[in-house]
Formats: sequence, C-alpha cells, structure tokens
Amino acid sequence: MGLREKVAEALISDTDDFFIYWDYQTGWKCSGGGCDSLEKEPIRQKGMLGLLDIVQDDDREICSLFLDRMQQGSKDANVFQPLPGKRFEVNLHLRNVDNTYTYYRIECHILKEEETGIMHRGVVEIMPLTQEEIYRLRLAENITNDKNPQYFAGGAAEIMASQPEKRFALIQFDVAKFKVINEQYGEDVGDEILRFFIHTLKIILRPDQLYARLTADVFMVLTSYTQEEEVYELIGKIDQNLSGYKGIPYTLFFGVCEVKDRSQKLRKYGDGAAFARQSIKGDALNHIAFYRDDMKQQAKTQKIVEDQMEHALENHEFVMFLQPKYSISRNRIVGAEALVRWIHPERGTIPPNDFVPLFEKNGFVIKMDQYIWEEACKTIRGWMDAGVEPIPISVNVSRRHLKDGRFVQVLDDLVEKYSIERRYLEIEITETVDQGQTQAGIDLLKEHGYTLLMDDFGSGYSSLNTLKDTQFDVIKIDRYFLQDFVRSERGQKIVEHTIRMTRAIGLELVAEGVENQEQALFLSRCGCDTAQGYYYAKPMPVEQFNERLKE
Ligand code: C2E
Ligand code: CA
Ligand code: CA
Repeated sequence: MGLREKVAEALISDTDDFFIYWDYQTGWKCSGGGCDSLEKEPIRQKGMLGLLDIVQDDDREICSLFLDRMQQGSKDANVFQPLPGKRFEVNLHLRNVDNTYTYYRIECHILKEEETGIMHRGVVEIMPLTQEEIYRLRLAENITNDKNPQYFAGGAAEIMASQPEKRFALIQFDVAKFKVINEQYGEDVGDEILRFFIHTLKIILRPDQLYARLTADVFMVLTSYTQEEEVYELIGKIDQNLSGYKGIPYTLFFGVCEVKDRSQKLRKYGDGAAFARQSIKGDALNHIAFYRDDMKQQAKTQKIVEDQMEHALENHEFVMFLQPKYSISRNRIVGAEALVRWIHPERGTIPPNDFVPLFEKNGFVIKMDQYIWEEACKTIRGWMDAGVEPIPISVNVSRRHLKDGRFVQVLDDLVEKYSIERRYLEIEITETVDQGQTQAGIDLLKEHGYTLLMDDFGSGYSSLNTLKDTQFDVIKIDRYFLQDFVRSERGQKIVEHTIRMTRAIGLELVAEGVENQEQALFLSRCGCDTAQGYYYAKPMPVEQFNERLKE
C-alpha cells in the first residue's frame, strides 16, 4: 500500500500508528486512531507544533531543532534535499494520556514539493519504538558506553548484508582542537555541542546510515554509495549541518575508508578511517582524507624519520648546500641561499621536501633550521678568515619560528659568536594567509637590522597588495610564477609589471628557478637583475661553492 492510501485509510479508520496529514491550503488533519496511549490533543489543536507541548524536557531541544529544520528544510537545499525517499525522522519521548512517557519515532514524508522547493504537503507518522530500537538508540547516544563499537559492528553487518550490491564506507570525524573549545567556552558548552551533533545526525542521516559516538568527540558513520561523489556529498552535508553551533568556530576533520572486503573485520576499516582522519592534523586547508593503502607505509617511513632525526642532527647528517644567486648583467655570484640536505648513511641524499614538511609539523624544524643558520654563519666566517670578500647567505626561517621572538635572539647570538655583519645573514620567509600571527616576529627581525626576503612570491597568498606596506626588503619571485607566465605574452606582461611595481616601491628582486638564458635575459630586461636557478647552478656542497666563488 502506498503512503497516500495508507494516509487515506488512517484518516477514516483505526490504524496502529498515528498520522498527521497536512497541506498548505487546508491545514492539517489527524487520523482518528493509532497510538492510543499518546496524548494527542495538543497535536490535534496545533499540528506539529503541538509536539512541543507533550515532549519530555530532555528532548525539547531536539524537538525544536527538528521542527525548525522541517520548516526551513524545504527552503534550504542542503538540509533536507536531496532527501532519498523524501523522508526524515526523529525519536522523541512524548507524553501519554496517563502522564507517563514513551519513546516514539516521528517520521515525516514529503508528498509533494512545488518548484519553489517549499513543502506543500506532507504526512507525519508517529509510532512507538520497539524495545530493540530503544536499546540500540541508547547505545548510540550513550557517550561512555564501551559497547558502542560492538553495537556499531553488529548494526553495520546487518545493513551491509541487506545491500549486497552497494559499496560501503566508514566516515570518522572529530572536532579539531576540541580541547581548546572546552577550555575557552567551558565543558558544558563542549557537551552541548556534542549533543547537538547527535541530534543533528539523527535528523540528517538516513535510517540505513548508521552512526555512533566512539569516544569524546569522535563519531563514526557508515554509509552505502555507488559513486565516490556521494561520500563527498554526505560529508558536505554533515559538515554544513554540524558546523557553527551558536556561532562557535570549530572545524571538523573527516577520515574515510572504503569497506573493500566484507569478509574482513569491520574494525580494520574503522582503523583506516581513523588513520586517514589523523593524517589531516596540521593541514589547515584540507578537512577530508581518504584512506589509501600506502598510508600505513608512509606513516612507517615517517616514524623511522622521526626516530632518527635527533641522532641525525648530532651525527651531522644534515648538511648545508649553497645555491648561488647571480647578477644577470655582470654574470657573477652576488649571494647564495642555504638549502638543507639529509645525507643519510643508508638512504643517500634525501631532499628537503621529504622531511622539512614533517619537521614543520612535529616542530623539529626549529632545531634543524638553527643548525643550518649556524653552518651559514660558519661559512661566512670561513670566507673572512680566508681573505675572501664575503657575499650574503640567505637562510630559510620556517614559519614555526615566528610564533615567538626567541629565534631572533638565536640569530643575534650566532652573528655575535662568529662576529659577522648582519647584512651577510639574510632571512627568507614565506608569506601566507595568517600574516597577523607572524607580524611580531617580522617586526623584531627588522628592528634588529636583518635583511628580509619574501620567499615564493606569486605562488600562493602573496600578491601585489601584500607589498604595499611590507617590511620585506627583497622579493623572491617563485619559480612557478616565472615558468607559468613567461610562456605567454600576457603572462610576460604580468611578470614585467610585477617587477616594475616592486622596484618602484623600492624593493629588490631575486628570480628563482631560472632555467635558461631566455628567462634570464627577459628578467634582466624587465629590471630584475638577480637570478637563482639551474641555468646558473644547482645547490651544491660548500667546498664546491667555494671553488666557484674563486673563479
Ligand atoms: P625554497 O626555499 O623555495 O628553495 C628553492 C628550491 O628550488 C630549492 O629546492 C632549489 O633546489 C630549487 N631550485 C632552485 N633553482 C631551481 C631551478 O632552476 N629549477 C628547479 N626545478 N628547482 C630549482 P630544495 O633545495 O629541494 O628545497 C625545497 C624547499 O625545502 C625549499 O624551497 C624550502 O622551502 C625548504 N627548505 C630547504 N632547506 C631548508 C632549510 O634549511 N630550512 C627550512 N625551514 N626549509 C628549507
Ligand atoms: Ca627559500
Ligand atoms: Ca622559494
């Protein structure tokens, strides 16, 4: 029997469930029978709003949430649309005529939507939950219940068995830095947010999309899908509906793992989702990670690197290479950039891109950088002692340093220890979005008389606008900026204009990644005379660099 027929029947005869049917022209009608013990009078009088009169206090919040969403839902495409089967539901403790409370399921079916997207006709079915359902719900809601994973696995097995043709994925998510929210807003607010999550999940997920709260702020959702986009869509829906509770800023991190082999323990895939989620930490732009088979391997490698890094530093396995900067017009070395290499006893030379990002996450970059800075100072001292006219070496200062001013003291100490002039130790910093956080460090460097180079200009967030009132002295044009632009005439105009603008406001320029003569000549014509790139030389060990310097 279709829903319409069911409704029609319910309106004239007795059924087990209680129905509310409405359309916007005639208002609502309630069926004569069903749910005999339920106190139905308020609903008969006020329609769905009557629910608020008979809902148990603890469920009031979720009830209003449900009603709100039901009303706005049809307007707000992402909340209730696309709604498979156009059905949404909520479980509430409602008052009976004898003043006791029973746990009911309230299920709303949309019968018709006009083009405007406004819900015009609907039917709501109210039915008492079975003992089994109540048991499961309790488990799903109960935060500290250690049976949750067990229940989850059991429920998941059933759901998966019922849809043999579908693919399944586990989505695990948590709130980034939830601790901070607890500290800032109080644990009550933290709990409130988590309760809001549970309530909202209950409303936005399909009945066959199982969810559970695993620990404090970690949730798991099982979903079937055919195309991967559906998983992204679901995550988008969860993200949108769960974000911004009472205007509190927080971010959700999602890890996804496909259930590739149903004969395996579900736990394995749960671990995969957890693994993927944890891999996001520290990456501000990306909030979703899919588990990949090589992830575990990568983590192993990471672990090896982390186990070895301290020893490697003591063992002088980190080595400073120098890449010359050339004056294009004079064709001679005018400076150098210090670039680290890890000369590993077994694995050979490891390029910085394989370990610097990891060190930036785990903080080791602080020690490593300081080591390289000292190597740079030593080298400058060495030149002076050998009677060679020194040239400036620029060192990379990871953004990790900039959070407090201590690193400036480290630089000062080094400059003093090797008694070199500050102008010989130049500082490279990459510009990014959260400039506010690093401004203090930059100011301090400037105060202490260092020359500042803005690294990777044109690659990301930096733009002409950032140059307007910058503290930097030199702009390093990113190699991709150069390569991408020099190809087309329009691009050339942009590079040319950028160079002229930069010079006009009194800044110096270095072009990175210059790989051929054509590029060098073009840059020189535009007014950028300093170039660093493979066309002139690759980064090299200090001894080799010294040979070149002599020439
Ligand atoms: P970066 O600071 O932008 O350094 C320039 C990178 O471009 C270097 O890669 C250099 O070898 C490469 N390069 C130079 N000329 C050319 C060219 O003509 N063509 C091409 N394709 N590449 C060119 P490298 O040495 O592998 O360093 C990569 C990144 O690692 C650096 O980018 C920097 O972000 C980081 N890094 C390197 N050494 C250190 C360090 O001591 N401390 C910190 N914090 N980061 C470092
Ligand atoms: Ca650099
Ligand atoms: Ca660069």
